[in-house]
Amino acid sequence: MDAKDMGDDLAAVLIDADQIQARLRELAAEIDRDYAGRELLLVGVLKGAVMVMADLARALHTTVEMDWMAVSSYGSGTRSSGVVRIIKDLDADLTDRHVLVVEDIVDSGLTLSWLMRNLSSRGPASLEVCTLLRKPDAQKGHPGKGGQAPVKYVGFDIPPEFVVGYGLDYAEKYRSLPFVGSLARHVYRPGS
Ligand code: 5GP
Repeated sequence: MDAKDMGDDLAAVLIDADQIQARLRELAAEIDRDYAGRELLLVGVLKGAVMVMADLARALHTTVEMDWMAVSSYGSGTRSSGVVRIIKDLDADLTDRHVLVVEDIVDSGLTLSWLMRNLSSRGPASLEVCTLLRKPDAQKGHPGKGGQAPVKYVGFDIPPEFVVGYGLDYAEKYRSLPFVGSLARHVYRPGS
């Protein structure tokens, strides 16, 4: 799927496919340096992180294992609450492993804060986060609501608007776009 397949549902391409791939190569080089001589377990958060996981893993020279977790965040409307339920847990035991969580996007950071508390209780040797996208709220932190989710590797800081593509959906659609874009208003508000 590409921009032309979306017709007038696409408002704008925010980060094109080449920019994403170039940035992932830079992040992979950093991660290779940081984990030299160690084995790494990449933990992808379904479903949004599928694309970034696939491309980041292939850009790395470090030996990696890949595992997946699916969580659902109870929230009102489009905001997450930080109260999270595990839909699919990891197969791997994290004890003494070097773990890098791979995320598509961190918005409020509440989901990630919960995930970090959960994963750190499993005794990993190290635990870090890589996200392709980060919105401004994630940098502010949420004292009292689990604290700031520390993200070591960030692809792009983006404005606080709703984006789709490269794993990210709107009502389960548009995940297969190779770029990150914003949707036209009529998609959210039919008839307007
Ligand atoms: P947080 O707990 O950080 O507020 O929420 C993170 C989750 O909300 C992400 O994993 C993603 O599922 C969803 N999310 C946040 N912002 C966006 C966005 O702009 N587009 C899409 N498609 N999902 C988003």
